[in-house]
Amino acid sequence: MFGTGLLKGLGITLKHALDTFRDDSRGTPSRYQDSIVLDSKRRIIEQPIEQEGILTIQYPEEKRLLPERFRYIPMLIWDTETGEDRCTACGICAKVCPPQCIWIVRDIDANGRPVARPGEFFIDVAVCMSCSFCVEFCPFDAIKMNHDYELAAYDRYPQLVYDKAELTVPVEYYAALWPDQWAQEEELRRQAKEEERAKAEAKARAAAEKAARAAGEDEGAQPKRTKAELDALKEQAAAKAAARRSGNGEADSTAAATDEAEAKKARLEELKRKAAEAARKRKESEA
Ligand code: SF4
Ligand code: SF4
Repeated sequence: MFGTGLLKGLGITLKHALDTFRDDSRGTPSRYQDSIVLDSKRRIIEQPIEQEGILTIQYPEEKRLLPERFRYIPMLIWDTETGEDRCTACGICAKVCPPQCIWIVRDIDANGRPVARPGEFFIDVAVCMSCSFCVEFCPFDAIKMNHDYELAAYDRYPQLVYDKAELTVPVEYYAALWPDQWAQEEELRRQAKEEERAKAEAKARAAAEKAARAAGEDEGAQPKRTKAELDALKEQAAAKAAARRSGNGEADSTAAATDEAEAKKARLEELKRKAAEAARKRKESEA
């Protein structure tokens, strides 16, 4: 029938209006369940899905609880542990920023040499489109997305061009806004440190083993001799060689004498045999 949809819609609106009064008549309306009370007027409301009645809140006194992945404009992380910016002024974020709204000035030391930290860091937040590319590409976890969306100002310049001081927040602030992501990053950082430590230990162990091996080889090796010792050894060797040579001469003469005696003996035996042969022949002829 014509108009039933309209009536149905009005009925739902009426139900929400009545639910609102009914909900408000309770001690704690459902929209304030699990809300964070900042003071008597201000609170942060979670707005659960089962909330009854009107869905509006009394902004700016009341604000919605933002999800962790909400992002607005970037913030620079100040590492309170090291007391330094995490940013190294590498410039990658400025290169990848689609609307080119990041401008970095690298810092210099006392001698005018550039150092790996930003002297200045500007973001034109009126141009930033909250894409989070700068965060995705930063190799040092130095830039993250802030949840702060209350940036209204009367003049764009200079109020909406944020400098380093305005962009910098301590790492604890980031940890509170992004607890899950921060915990994951910390775990990865811990693992990387553990791997680095294990590698350093393995390297130190290998160096110690090499040094121990070298020391062992030195102990087993002949100690180095002085020149005088070497000369003395040479003389000893020469004396031994001479003695060996003279010993060989004696042996030669003894061998020669032995050979001569043997020859004489053989000749005598031959003469004896011939004499015996001649005597036998003579006896046979006489017989
Ligand atoms: S925020 Fe990250 S990417 Fe950008 S300059 Fe600093 S270290 Fe490099
Ligand atoms: S969030 Fe996107 S637009 Fe904004 S500064 Fe980062 S890269 Fe640029």
